[in-house]
Formats: sequence, structure tokens, C-alpha cells
Amino acid sequence: MFTPPPLHQLLVTRTDNRPNRPFAGGLAAFITIHQTGNPRPTANAHAHARWMAREAPYSWHATIDDREVWQSLDWGEQGWHAGDGAAGPGNTTSIGLEICMHEGIDEAAADLNAAWLAARLRLDGHGYEGIVQHNHWTGKDCPALIRAEPGRWERFLEQVARFEEFESRTRLEDRVTRLEARVDALESAFAVAVERPGKAS
Ligand SMILES: [Zn+2]
Repeated sequence: MFTPPPLHQLLVTRTDNRPNRPFAGGLAAFITIHQTGNPRPTANAHAHARWMAREAPYSWHATIDDREVWQSLDWGEQGWHAGDGAAGPGNTTSIGLEICMHEGIDEAAADLNAAWLAARLRLDGHGYEGIVQHNHWTGKDCPALIRAEPGRWERFLEQVARFEEFESRTRLEDRVTRLEARVDALESAFAVAVERPGKAS
């Protein structure tokens, strides 16, 4: 049974490592998947978030490991992560998600957490043009480990689709439950009004 990872925020307040511009219409057309390229045992999501807040020369939206998600940029804001410059289109139209790959990480769990986050973003309207690898924008070998393993990228996209379906069904069910509660309330209000017609206005 999958448990969604906690989503922490350490939003970047410096302005020298990001374009300081919103996405057109406030929504990112794409979601770009990266892997950090950092195998050091301490290079988890929190460490990357702290590094970005302090001194990293670029910026991306969230870092994901096998335990948690650390968000660094507002989802509606452009970052510098795609390597294609200020004009983009990778930087200007996509949310950047970095999946950790440090020694000791449970890679399958990290992929799953990232897929869950991508699905959530899609349901909020981001990534409507698709989910792509960093490689799509510049040809860089990133996300390196995912690219190196045949079938892993396809599996990742399938997981996103499954989470999307599950989450949209859950959201729909919540809506139906709320509507049912309203109907119940209206029905009892109506019943009271019918029983005591003199009191109904
Ligand atoms: Zn990358």
C-alpha cells in the first residue's frame, strides 16, 4: 500500500538563481524529470533544498527521495534547471523535479514518490503538454539512472497515470459525498417546512 510522502517547503528567497517570472497563465505546460547525479550518502531531498536555498546557482521546483518531497519554488514560477537558458523552452514552460540517487536510497520508492507528485501537479493543471526527461530539452543524459535501465521510464509514466486516475476518482468521490450531504440537509429542511407549513417562509 502506497503512502504519499510528506511535502515540505523550503522556498527559495534569493533572486540570483531563478528568472523571477511566472509561467504563462500560471501553469507549466510540461513537467521535467531529472536525477540529481549526486551519489553521496547524505545527498537526500532535504540537503538539496538547503543547498538551493543557500548557494546553488540554479533552481528547480522540488527534490524527491524515498521518504519525502522538498518544494523549493512556487509551482507557478519558472526555474533554471533545463539547461536551455533564459529563453527556454525547458526553463520557461516546465516544472523541474529532481529525483535523488544517493547511496542507500530505495530507488523504486523515490520513483513512486516522484510519480505521485507529478500526478498531483497534473491534476492541478500543470504538465498538460506532458512529462519529459531533462534529455528532451538539451540531450543531456538526465535522469541518468532511469535512462540507463530499460523500461524504467515507461514504468514511471504508467505510475503517474495510475496515480492520476486514483486521485481524480478520490476527488470525484469527495465531491459526490459533499453533494450528498447538501442534498440530505436540503431534504431535512424541506421535510421540516412541509411538516410545519405555517412556519415556512
Ligand atoms: Zn537534469
